Amino acid sequence: MTGTLVEARGLSKSYGDHEVLHGVDFTVRAGEVSCIIGPSGSGKSTFLRTINGLETVDGGSLIVDGEQVGYALEDGRYRPWRDRDFARFRARIGMVFQRFNLYAHLDAVENVAASLIHVKRVPKAEAHERAEFELARVGLADHVLKRPHQLSGGQQQRVAIARALAMDPDLMLFDEPTSALDPELVDEVLETMRALAGRGMTMIVVTHEIGFAREVADTLSFFDGGRVVEQGDPEQVLTDPANDRTRSFLERVR
Ligand code: ADP
Ligand code: MG
Repeated sequence: MTGTLVEARGLSKSYGDHEVLHGVDFTVRAGEVSCIIGPSGSGKSTFLRTINGLETVDGGSLIVDGEQVGYALEDGRYRPWRDRDFARFRARIGMVFQRFNLYAHLDAVENVAASLIHVKRVPKAEAHERAEFELARVGLADHVLKRPHQLSGGQQQRVAIARALAMDPDLMLFDEPTSALDPELVDEVLETMRALAGRGMTMIVVTHEIGFAREVADTLSFFDGGRVVEQGDPEQVLTDPANDRTRSFLERVR
C-alpha cells in the first residue's frame, strides 16, 4: 500500500440523541503512526471500531486503501463496509484492545495460530510455525507453550499483538493497549509497539501514554466531544496546542 491508507470524511454517529462522532475527518498515510488522545467518552473507541467495521455510522465516508468501503442504507445511515467486502477488508486490519481476550484454554502458540487456521485455512503445522515466529518477534520465544494464566498482563498483551500480526495486516489499530496493565508492565508493550512502528507498520493508536505519542507518532490527534479538535505534529500539539480543551486535557494527564 502506498499513499493514503485511511481517509475518513465527516463521519458521524449517534446513539439515540447522543451524537458520539460529530463529523470526524481523519487521514492516515501508509507507514505512518497516528496517535489519538482525548478524554473518556470523546468517541475514540467508536472511531477505531468504525474503521474495522465493528460499527455503522450515520453519515460521512470512509476510504481504505483507495476503496470506498461503505454504502448508504435506505434510512440515510451509512454502513462502512459492504457485506461482501467485509471479511476481506477486516482481514487486513488487526486490532488490539485494552483487554486481551485470549482463549484461556489455549497456549500462546494456539492463541496466535487460531485465526490462521480457522479464518485463513492455513494448515495447522504451518500456522504453528508462523505463530512461533510472531511470538519470537514480540519477545516471547520462551513462553510459546504457556497458557494466558501463566503469563503476565504485559506478556498476554504481546500475545494479542502477535495474534493480530500473524494475519499479515496492512493496518494495526490499538485501543488503549496498556491501560489495563500494571505500571511496570507498560514499557514492554510500548517497546513491542515501537519496534512494530520501526518495521513500517501503519498504526492508529489510542493511548494515554503521552511520552510514547511524542516519541513514536508521526501525527497526534486530540478528540473531544466526538470531534477531532486538533491534529498535527505531536511535539507541536503537546507543547503548543492551538485548542484550549487540548491544553486543559494535557495539564490533567501530565
Ligand atoms: P472513548 O473511547 O473516547 O472513551 P467511546 O467511543 O467509547 O469513547 O464512547 C463515546 C460515547 O459513546 C460515550 O458517551 C459512550 O457512553 C457512548 N457509547 C459508546 N458505545 C455505546 C453504545 N453501544 N450505546 C450507547 N452509547 C454508547
Ligand atoms: Mg475508549
